Amino acid sequence: MAIDSSLSSSLGPAACEKDAKALQFIEEMTKNADPVQENVLAEILRRNADTEYLQRFQLCGATDRDTFKSKIPVITYEDLQPEIQRIANGDRSAILSAHPISEFLTSSGTSAGERKLMPTIQEELDRRQLLYSLLMPVMNLYVPGLDKGKGLYFLFVKSETKTPGGLLARPVLTSYYKSEHFKTRPYDPYMVYTSPNESILCSDSFQSMYTQMLCGLYLHNEVLRVGAVFASGLLRAIRFLQLNWEQLVQDISTGTLNPKITDPSVRECISHLHQPNPELAEFITKECSGGNWEGIISRIWPNTKYLDVIVTGAMAQYIPTLDYYSGGLPLACTMYASSECYFGINLNPMCKPSDVSYTIMPNMAYFEFLPHEPSSSGFTRDSPPCLVDLVDLEIGKEYELVITTYAGLCRYRVGDILRVSGFHNSAPQFNFVRRKNVLLSIDSDKTDEAELQKAVDNASQLLSEFNTSVVEYTSYADTKTIPGHYVIYWELLVKDPANSPSQEVLNQCCHAMEESLNSVYRQGRVADNSIGPLEIRVVKSGTFEELMDYAISRGASINQYKVPRCVNFTPIMELLDSRVVTAHFSPTLPNWTPERRR
Ligand code: AMP
Repeated sequence: MAIDSSLSSSLGPAACEKDAKALQFIEEMTKNADPVQENVLAEILRRNADTEYLQRFQLCGATDRDTFKSKIPVITYEDLQPEIQRIANGDRSAILSAHPISEFLTSSGTSAGERKLMPTIQEELDRRQLLYSLLMPVMNLYVPGLDKGKGLYFLFVKSETKTPGGLLARPVLTSYYKSEHFKTRPYDPYMVYTSPNESILCSDSFQSMYTQMLCGLYLHNEVLRVGAVFASGLLRAIRFLQLNWEQLVQDISTGTLNPKITDPSVRECISHLHQPNPELAEFITKECSGGNWEGIISRIWPNTKYLDVIVTGAMAQYIPTLDYYSGGLPLACTMYASSECYFGINLNPMCKPSDVSYTIMPNMAYFEFLPHEPSSSGFTRDSPPCLVDLVDLEIGKEYELVITTYAGLCRYRVGDILRVSGFHNSAPQFNFVRRKNVLLSIDSDKTDEAELQKAVDNASQLLSEFNTSVVEYTSYADTKTIPGHYVIYWELLVKDPANSPSQEVLNQCCHAMEESLNSVYRQGRVADNSIGPLEIRVVKSGTFEELMDYAISRGASINQYKVPRCVNFTPIMELLDSRVVTAHFSPTLPNWTPERRR
């Protein structure tokens, strides 16, 4: 095929005029990363100059980097909580941003057990939309013909609440899917989804998943890519198929719709798409009934060219399972984003998961980087950190991301650790290393060491009447089951064997731990069904001493040895599992409602 030379960019030949513009934009941004960053900072400081927050630091109208860096402190969410609380309570004055706060985006990162509330402003939707609009032009460079079919994407909205002052609080993707940007997006042959908006926007997760799967099955031969936001979400869809294929097949065969689908707008929209198709029903029955799920994605959707899911960071644990269900289809990680800000895109999306690097788009916010030294816990006001600018980073080094956004976050520590893997033009590219302080994660939940400790403390109170205590513990994110679940290994000291805690009491300990975990975990258990019941495995006494002996035999220092609070190294897992005496599961769901506990 002859390519129009006007469509060529250093990234490669664009698939169409629209793509050419997007690639051109990426080139401009990455070539001019430093001036773009300078302008972004100046613009943010200019427009927010009169906000209460910036006034506090007496910039006196300065919009340059040096003044900014010398006067504005680097902060965390906790530092900003008083201001955020005031906004949540209804104070509409210009506290952080000169533009009105349009809503709060509820992060999966938590503070005191509740989702962090990230203020946002209306125009941020345009910025997010802009980043989304760059994804397909890049993908089209690597995978031709994506306009000849559809994408089967499992996309969901989550529940939303209002703050006491009346602002909406909801996850960023819920905000995006409910926006006009998404709902009334213009037709684009490269972005045709099998899921109707009505299904995506249905807040009942069963009805949403069922009808998205049904549409995906109907259009199975047209599907060219299958995806979800995170790997865990796509696996949940496969599990859903395993559990519900018979009902789905019945609907396809007869052209009826499962009576559990009660949402009128979903029923109405599906009824238009719905025709009896016994042949397709037979095909799906043949593929699903034998109990062999290996390669099921490519068997049911035979034209799938790749899976579009994030498998970097905590999601890397799902790569082998995705490979199993897809027969090894390529995994594309396309973007890196958060509730605070959308950061960047992967310019080589068909690369191996271990090679994924994200290029931060310098127009999205002002970015600074705190050199990450694993041994240092932080810094004090007396020894301010030296933050590095986007274009001054060193290849191979690790940094923590610090952002200044249009919505009013100033020098805010995101908590992500990134490693510079190279540059595209003058913009650095990053491997996502990890999120700081996350011990356990199954889906979007993030449990840190302090939360785990508190959960163990709370649960072990149930043991006190049995004169029993937890002497040591560690944990493991078990993703062999779908959904995955937390496993906590406990070594107990039972002082009175005649009165040791019963099976029932230990089950209740699992439940007590779940009750203590943060709201994202509990929402995953209750509303999203994305996390399975927590399990406690009681190990023989002396097991943790063996664990220490093992670590020392591998070179750990006796003096500095600390029990790892999370494990995933196979020999250690094998040791622990070989010492398990009893296993217990949480018998009931923990409490969760969309309302915040405080
Ligand atoms: P949230 O605050 O719930 O919006 O979650 C945002 C966080 O998810 C980021 O700060 C990262 O820790 C993680 N995340 C987002 N995108 C990616 C990605 N592509 N790879 C790895 N982790 C990611």
